Amino acid sequence: MKKIISLFCLLAVFSTSLVAQNNTAEEKAPAEEVLLKDYRPKSIYKLPEYKAEKASFGAIDMHSHPYPNSEEGIKKWVETMKENNIKKTMVLTYSTGAEFDSLYSVYSKYGDYFEVWSGIDYTGYNEPGFSEKSVKELERLHAVGATGIGELGDKGSGLVYSHPTKGVGLHIDDERLDPVLEKAGELHMPINIHVAEPYWFYMEMDSTNDGLMNAVDWRLDNKKDILGHGELLKTLENAVAKHPNTTFVAAHLGNSAYDLNIIGRMLEKYPNLYADLSARYAELSQIPRHVRQFIIDHQDKIVYGTDMGTDGHMYDVTFRVLQTMDEHFYEHDTFGYHWSLNGFDLSEDVLRKIYVTNPEKILNR
Ligand SMILES: [Zn+2]
Repeated sequence: MKKIISLFCLLAVFSTSLVAQNNTAEEKAPAEEVLLKDYRPKSIYKLPEYKAEKASFGAIDMHSHPYPNSEEGIKKWVETMKENNIKKTMVLTYSTGAEFDSLYSVYSKYGDYFEVWSGIDYTGYNEPGFSEKSVKELERLHAVGATGIGELGDKGSGLVYSHPTKGVGLHIDDERLDPVLEKAGELHMPINIHVAEPYWFYMEMDSTNDGLMNAVDWRLDNKKDILGHGELLKTLENAVAKHPNTTFVAAHLGNSAYDLNIIGRMLEKYPNLYADLSARYAELSQIPRHVRQFIIDHQDKIVYGTDMGTDGHMYDVTFRVLQTMDEHFYEHDTFGYHWSLNGFDLSEDVLRKIYVTNPEKILNR
């Protein structure tokens, strides 16, 4: 049995239910019996392969999480980072309080290899005095060593990623958060935030859904009382506009792969907004020429990120998509879609910006 690395950070860290079990190649089904979810085609094309085994510049990974659960695992991760030319990784912990402190004490031992970002403390967000208390905790987290905030996340029901307290019903443009977001700017703590989800998840789960195989596991079409895709992007835009001294990074290109104009327009309008490429390589590599041009057009605002564990092959897949002109290659074990992937063949100048220059702009504060 093989496992598919989940593309969706939060649940991937905290749930094992997302580890999809699939037929191995050895369990081939005859055509009359094959189900779409078991479809594992292999390319027959004889093509040149440009596979990339390391980042072409010492890269900064702007979107990862505390995946290993042992010191051994972290040491192995650092070795994998070195092999892949990743010079630094943002460990987005989602956490506040004692949990953040203990994660910080573990990761801070590795010097420049990691920065550790905290969550926001939403405790008592329906009570008077919340904003002051949350600002106080942010100052404490910063004093402990948090250098940024994230990953905040809102898939429609509110900012539920941070823990121990989830901000159910609280969205990023809520005025109760204004003092916290202002303080983040003052402390030069950038904010990585995930809003919405890929558009296939909102569509009907039927034979016309282009991303059905992945969307059905993450469906939102049956969720009532949540903000929709456009409404969530609007909450992000409101917050970015209200807090021009605070830097925001829209995770996963604002989940707007289906219409890159949505995030593109915001990147052009707001100097304090960036976007990361993490965990959307499969969604983007279906339209490689369009995405290549989008990245070129927004080359000063896009940053590298992974969000898919710590495995060496995972990094190679991201490099192959960004750096090569390989076409029609499958990564069934890495992504949940039934699609093949295509490389963007980005130039060295553009790669340097997304791997190094833009992350450094955000981190040099
Ligand atoms: Zn994530």
